[in-house]
Amino acid sequence: MRCVHCQRCCRDTMMELSEADIVRLERRGYRREEFCSIDEDGIPRLRNVGSWCFFYDSEARRCCEYRSRPLGCTLYPVNMDEDGHLIVDELCPQVGTITAEELERKGKRLRALLRTIDAQAARR
Ligand code: SF4
Ligand code: SF4
Repeated sequence: MRCVHCQRCCRDTMMELSEADIVRLERRGYRREEFCSIDEDGIPRLRNVGSWCFFYDSEARRCCEYRSRPLGCTLYPVNMDEDGHLIVDELCPQVGTITAEELERKGKRLRALLRTIDAQAARR
């Protein structure tokens, strides 16, 4: 897809995090309590500061940890609905540029990621 870096997906994020995402960001010098909150269901998610993701730099208008961003951010706007069906999030203005091949490839990675996150949450 052709991301235009509009950053809509960095606003009021509910992005789920795997332990690998958290550790990678900790290695960048952040404490997990700063950027991550754990919901009642045991799922860690990116924390917002005001209306924006903790890692959103409002002056530069970009993600300040783009290279280390959570895997879910790299797979977005491919997402999954509550029934487990793959969807593309219409919030993204570039959904029309996703190819069928990309949807399938990202969908596989997203399913694996969410299985990992669920398994990690079950062990908490
Ligand atoms: S909403 Fe879509 S186009 Fe905008 S930054 Fe996110 S992925 Fe890129
Ligand atoms: S980690 Fe970066 S790309 Fe992901 S939601 Fe936050 S600011 Fe956006």
